[in-house]
Amino acid sequence: MLTHPPLANSLVELDRRHLVHPVSSFRGHEARGVRILTSANGATVTDAEGRQLIDGFAGLWCVNAGYGHESVIEAATRQMRELPYATGYFDLGAEAPIRLAAALAERAPGDLNHVYFTLGGSDAVDSTIRFIRYYWHALGQPGRDQFISVASGYHGSTSMGAGLTALPLFHDGFGVPHSWQHKIASHDLYRNPLASEPQAVIAASVAELRAKIAEIGAERVAAFYVEPIQGSGGVLVPPPGWIKAMHAVCREFGILFVADEVITGFGRTGPLFACEDEDIVPDLMTVAKGLTSGYLPMGAVLMSDHVYEVIADGAGAKAVGHGFTYSAHPVSAAVALEVLSLYEGGIFDNGRAMGERLQAGLRSLSDHPLVGDVRGRGMLAAVELVTDKTAKTPLPAALNAATRLFDRAWEQGLVVRSFAQGVLGYAPPLCCTADEIDAIVARTRKVLDLTLEDP
Ligand code: PMP
Repeated sequence: MLTHPPLANSLVELDRRHLVHPVSSFRGHEARGVRILTSANGATVTDAEGRQLIDGFAGLWCVNAGYGHESVIEAATRQMRELPYATGYFDLGAEAPIRLAAALAERAPGDLNHVYFTLGGSDAVDSTIRFIRYYWHALGQPGRDQFISVASGYHGSTSMGAGLTALPLFHDGFGVPHSWQHKIASHDLYRNPLASEPQAVIAASVAELRAKIAEIGAERVAAFYVEPIQGSGGVLVPPPGWIKAMHAVCREFGILFVADEVITGFGRTGPLFACEDEDIVPDLMTVAKGLTSGYLPMGAVLMSDHVYEVIADGAGAKAVGHGFTYSAHPVSAAVALEVLSLYEGGIFDNGRAMGERLQAGLRSLSDHPLVGDVRGRGMLAAVELVTDKTAKTPLPAALNAATRLFDRAWEQGLVVRSFAQGVLGYAPPLCCTADEIDAIVARTRKVLDLTLEDP
């Protein structure tokens, strides 16, 4: 156990010297000391100073089942002892990934019956790009090589996936190829003058998507990617019917529709997959995070019958050259199967009840002078801070510092993500108790009060 502050201090120094953190290590002079977590249980994490905090962000929107489930640890240990590894190459396999693929196919909407396992979300998205290119190639339309996604969307950090990601910091300076990807405006409602009329918002997006398709040439558009609720873009919830309308446009032009459920999957918004609420069946779906609840890395691509069959037949006698050493890892799969049985044994039900409590609790903060918007669905939410509620003025730079809000929340015993634009993001474990949800809300109010007093 790491509870001794001098030891923690020396680790902070080692970290600074040697460990390169995603995004935060690249802030140059702004780089700060790492905060070290030492243990976790349920929805609570403990830091190196022994401080206990409610993890309002489930790690990185992933620990949906909560920490410390003995049955998950046992499932992993059993699988490690029996068969820690089996490749999926050369027609080899193992029981756990086969059972997991079948379980996902059984539960996924429509005919998403074919599961390709990856190590996480980015390589799941990357795999869809490769599969889709291959699909159009096999159908004799290799010129269908253009992709459309939604502004402020996030689809991962690999070179191809980062092309679909619309957050500039993920491609500026990295030489990510842009020639094949296009964006339509996001469905952000907060500053949208049409927000009070959802049908007008939908009509505007439909018109924009049609215009984009016409501009590229319908015969060149391979696929459209969407997060049912945008996560990293600031928890942006489209108006009801928006996804269905976009799906209909894609159908009209034979464009493949990909739902990126890396954050929204596995009960995060209520149902197993968020697109179930939208009453559509995507042609492909990507999942990760909640699949293993963060206990081990794993992601997956779910393909519908027609997509899989074209790729499989199109290969003819040739093999399709796409695969990872750790695809369908037996230990990750054993963990995912156990996590799924925990979810269905009561955690999803709890998450749905707690999701309503979280949304109502955070909405009760709307009266606060700094709160411009509260949005979300289920256990996925955001509070957007502004300095002027009528003008919807974003926080000025000093207040806006994401780290300052993060630090303040940490001091109150709450882990939340603070987005650069003054948005606090929430994605607590679905196992949270009512008291923990109430504490998340109360601690947030305290953070807001402190920020009002001392910006
Ligand atoms: N897609 C979405 C919607 C995501 O939110 C993320 C990660 N936040 C990814 C893809 C990439 O997943 P990973 O970080 O596991 O590679």
